[in-house]
Amino acid sequence: MTHPAHTPASLPATRSKTTLPAAGTAGRSRRARVEPMAVRPLRDGRYAVETEGGTYVVDLDANACTCPDHQLRRARCKHLRRVALEVTARLVPPPGKRTAVCAVCGGRTFVPTTVEGPALCSRHAVRPGEVVADRETGDRLLVVAEAGARADRVATDEGRLVADYPSNADYGAHEPVVRAVYVDSLRRDGEVRTYAFPASRLRRLRDATPADAADVGPSSTDAGPSATTA
Ligand SMILES: [Zn+2]
Ligand SMILES: [Zn+2]
Repeated sequence: MTHPAHTPASLPATRSKTTLPAAGTAGRSRRARVEPMAVRPLRDGRYAVETEGGTYVVDLDANACTCPDHQLRRARCKHLRRVALEVTARLVPPPGKRTAVCAVCGGRTFVPTTVEGPALCSRHAVRPGEVVADRETGDRLLVVAEAGARADRVATDEGRLVADYPSNADYGAHEPVVRAVYVDSLRRDGEVRTYAFPASRLRRLRDATPADAADVGPSSTDAGPSATTA
């Protein structure tokens, strides 16, 4: 069994000024591409645009910019256009999202600014309602809660940190915890318990190759290793 690297890369706090390829357009549209600008997302969902002539603040949702061209002429200025271009090209996050590093693969991703704690890219995120496989046991699980805090910060009912269970040793302690119930337990009478797992211990089934699918055996009735709230 192989596991992806667990060390997330750091992100630069600021970007140097760049240009985009000109697309045969004229006027503000061309200047939006070819003039050196650095676009930096702000915490409030707006963007600081640093240019040779000064730094302006663009509000995409309000279609507004603090530059004279927009303030005096109500123009769709080069700064507004540049921010829209960079959002479309996924160079900067759209309003309401922030850039984050996936805790499983280290890839860059955008997550809602309201999401705190470790992030997961779209390839490694699992959503409530999704059926996944436990890489350790092959059991099928139904995800019941979005990824939460780090595995080395979340304690189970037993008072142990999720990351401290030996069966979780191969998965990143910095990964967000995902809560899930065993599909088998839903078919039986009695208590259905929720268990907590480091995100990469749960394998998404829709990405499974035929070879991978073969190692998912019939569900066992064993209790999981990291019991938490029911
Ligand atoms: Zn402007
Ligand atoms: Zn990832």
